[in-house]
Amino acid sequence: MIPIVSENIEAYALEQSSPEPALLAELAAETRASMKSPQMMVGHAQGLFLRSIATMLQARRVLEIGTFTGYSSLSLAAGMPGDGRLITCDVDPVATAVARRYWARSPYGDKITLELRPALETLATLSGPFDLVFIDADKPGYVAYWEACVPLVRAGGVLLADNVLWSGRVLAPEEKDDLAIVAFNAHVARDTRVDKVMLTVRDGITLAIKR
Ligand code: SAM
Repeated sequence: MIPIVSENIEAYALEQSSPEPALLAELAAETRASMKSPQMMVGHAQGLFLRSIATMLQARRVLEIGTFTGYSSLSLAAGMPGDGRLITCDVDPVATAVARRYWARSPYGDKITLELRPALETLATLSGPFDLVFIDADKPGYVAYWEACVPLVRAGGVLLADNVLWSGRVLAPEEKDDLAIVAFNAHVARDTRVDKVMLTVRDGITLAIKR
């Protein structure tokens, strides 16, 4: 991932933000040391952002597509009330085994349920309403995830989609994933069921509020 905001500015912004909880710092370090694509993990700044959104919404039902080693799941769960429940979807048994180990050590871990199969299979079994959805999985799947998730979100609920600026490649798309993100962004831009804003946080996050 090529940073969109300069690394100095990112570092400065993080210094002015809440510190990274020790367990998440340990999870991030293990992910960087042991995973092939550690940059997939949302990390400190975006973790704080996710936690803030969950807190502001007092989100009791949250759906996440793309668990990986569980950093974003734990960040979301930390912002949810005590009786909140997070369903998170992934297909990778190795990365999610790391996630499970850290969830087991966290006071928020018992809010999280992992669905280990293709997300579309899980989404077909779910009923709404959800307060918050976070889409952060395979890019060619984004439009299908969006279409499955929008009806599950309550009015006033929020959908977040990660990597919508895709290291800036949205401006000159060439490869399959570049084109998938560009098509997803156009799809959301046309969607009158939501009000939305694309944020230049980290790799770009779309925040959409269901009407
Ligand atoms: N949100 C995670 C975090 O902060 O650590 C990062 C998620 S990573 C960008 C994308 C994840 O999507 C990978 O762990 C991958 O296994 C998962 N994935 C890919 N295809 C999927 C599918 N069809 N259904 C569910 N998950 C999928």
